[in-house]
Amino acid sequence: MAAKDCVKVAVRVRPFNKRERDAGSRCVVSMSANTITIQDPRNPQARRTFTFDYAFWSHSGYLKNRDGLFVAEEPGGRYADQGSVFSDLGQGILENTLQGYNATLLAYGQTGSGKSYSMVGYGPNKGLVPTLCERLFQAVKAANQESCQCQVFFSMLEIYNEQVIDLLSKGGRSPGGLRVREDQQRGFYVEGLRRVPCDSAAQVEQLMEQGTRTRTTAATHMNANSSRSHMLIIAQLKQIFTKENITKQSNINLVDLAGSERQRCSGLEADRLKEGTAINVSLTTLGNVISSLAEAALGKKAVHIPYRDSVLTKLLQSALGGNSRTVMIATLSPSDICYEESLSTLRYAERAK
Ligand code: ADP
Repeated sequence: MAAKDCVKVAVRVRPFNKRERDAGSRCVVSMSANTITIQDPRNPQARRTFTFDYAFWSHSGYLKNRDGLFVAEEPGGRYADQGSVFSDLGQGILENTLQGYNATLLAYGQTGSGKSYSMVGYGPNKGLVPTLCERLFQAVKAANQESCQCQVFFSMLEIYNEQVIDLLSKGGRSPGGLRVREDQQRGFYVEGLRRVPCDSAAQVEQLMEQGTRTRTTAATHMNANSSRSHMLIIAQLKQIFTKENITKQSNINLVDLAGSERQRCSGLEADRLKEGTAINVSLTTLGNVISSLAEAALGKKAVHIPYRDSVLTKLLQSALGGNSRTVMIATLSPSDICYEESLSTLRYAERAK
């Protein structure tokens, strides 16, 4: 794999939601192939342009205002449903994993911009994670009939305030969270994290439901909002090639990041402030790591990659850089109401390029 292929960035614009349509809001985003332009609603002459590896609108019918008219002057770009997004972003990750390399898929964006829709999906509109699992098990089944024994293990955790919570553990939460340890062979890992052997996509789906319930309950318990935590799903593939006596192990990390919206400072209690700061540490460090990797891929000079600066980047270390494939999907609203947040999402995503 060429170095330039190790980090890919996609931007996906969701349809208008009801609130935006009812408010008669305007589309401030336009696309031309993989170039996205965003227009400042207070100053239509002020436009910023960004180019990514992929840029997607959602299904065509939705990008209409309440009168059924397109609100983008020149929509341009590509409409992509969940299936096309998987073909563009998920398929490469699957192939890389089957070859024994690690991969990371990250969703970044404001709360309500489509991170969960893209990663997990809703109802029949399955997102990247369930589709990736389905295809993974199909590949495992086929391989198991050849001279290979494959096993898949599944873990699901949450990082909240730089603390790790096991979303699949039945026992209560450890006070202070689980410990992140470092080992010469394994790199960083979470001590005592539950690792469930799985043999079907249906079983993974059940575990994801269980994990999502625990996440919501944990958030209620802590009087917090789950959009402020990062969720990490780790699917581990172990392939034993009996004839050759070779074992390959690869991890797919699937990350639904905390909402990228800036913390509003007024009226925040101390806890919230701490929470905001810790979330920003993980998001800022992740941005620094990915942009350093992109810089390192250009091969101009030795670049320090600051993995150790946050829990999230420690845990992703073995699956970011090197032979790993990293895909970031940045999600945004088309609406003028969300202009500031969308611009900041585009800026963050641009750093990864
Ligand atoms: P987030 O995870 O970023 O908080 P969600 O994924 O929950 O946001 O999306 C908010 C709402 O927008 C959901 O009702 C979802 O169904 C809808 N939505 C998001 N992205 C899309 C999309 N690409 N196509 C259709 N609906 C979408």
